[in-house]
Amino acid sequence: MIYSLIIKRNEMAKVLVNGYWDHGKKKEIRSYAIYGGLIPPFTMSIGSDKYIMPGWYKLNKEEELPNIEDIAFYPYKPSIRPLPAESIGKVYKVLSSKGDKEYEVNYNASGSLECSCVGYGFRRKCRHIDQITSTL
Ligand SMILES: [Zn+2]
Repeated sequence: MIYSLIIKRNEMAKVLVNGYWDHGKKKEIRSYAIYGGLIPPFTMSIGSDKYIMPGWYKLNKEEELPNIEDIAFYPYKPSIRPLPAESIGKVYKVLSSKGDKEYEVNYNASGSLECSCVGYGFRRKCRHIDQITSTL
């Protein structure tokens, strides 16, 4: 279970590319950053294609494979304040703002909270989770 969650988070890793034209070298200088995920950046080649991982950023033919130490890494961070261990496995029910729906906030084994609402599905955070976090 924990394993599959980690996979999910790594899939969310994004490679951000910044570039500027270097007039002296007459070429574009690019810098790369990984946001999210838990695995530090690495590069990978499949056939003639080169990728920055995690995030599956495919380099153009003209792009040089960067040095690993030049790739900035901003890993996924779980909640700043550790949640109480005794709450692990609990499911909290939260009413929607209109009071017409009930959402389930799940405190899972990896120590993170997941909500059943649509907003959480898109943004991986929502006010129901905030509500639970503030009460724990
Ligand atoms: Zn929610």
